[in-house]
Amino acid sequence: MVRKFDGGKLVLATHNRGKVIEIADLLAPFVDDLVSASELGLPEPEETGSSFIANAELKALAAAKRSGFPALADDSGLVVPTLGGDPGIYSARWAGPSKNFRAAMQKVEDGLRGEKNRTARFVSALTLGWPDGHTVSVEGTVRGELTWPPRGDRGFGYDPVFVAVGYDITFGEMDPVEKHQISHRADAFRKLVDLCFTS
Ligand code: IMP
Repeated sequence: MVRKFDGGKLVLATHNRGKVIEIADLLAPFVDDLVSASELGLPEPEETGSSFIANAELKALAAAKRSGFPALADDSGLVVPTLGGDPGIYSARWAGPSKNFRAAMQKVEDGLRGEKNRTARFVSALTLGWPDGHTVSVEGTVRGELTWPPRGDRGFGYDPVFVAVGYDITFGEMDPVEKHQISHRADAFRKLVDLCFTS
């Protein structure tokens, strides 16, 4: 059942500063009192779920139960159907502890060698969780194709090999303002705002 956010404090269950800034911006019209999990000194739970939504839910509920306030968490990644959905929920882990995304992109490309189907999508799951265990989750996507070699030094992660449907530049070459309008996170946010942050 859908539940509305009823004002007051909202905890952002991410320890990534870039995401905190981006999400704070998106939620500014709806939330007055936004605080991040790291500001509250909350631990980062292990991502043990087997789907994007399962991981977003466990992060949101961990933060909500610990803090006593509603919490918002996200989980995202690149899904490549030809690779059986990989790297998927393991998108960050494919880059290893040194966050080597050049190597992660190469691994994707190696898997696609000789394959005709180079379609891919970015997925973003968002969960709003309450201390009583209630959750509302949504998933946003942006579809496209993978290109090689990587192009562009904007963005992050797999952006330099992803070309969204209708474009001929990669996310790594795209103006971030434009990317943030068409991205999987933007799609997920629009859905969550419709469900939980508007009357
Ligand atoms: P998490 O959501 O913080 O677990 O990270 C998911 C991983 O997916 C990131 O480290 C990136 O590798 C990848 N990813 C998610 N969103 C994007 C995006 O917009 N561009 C490029 N890579 C992304």
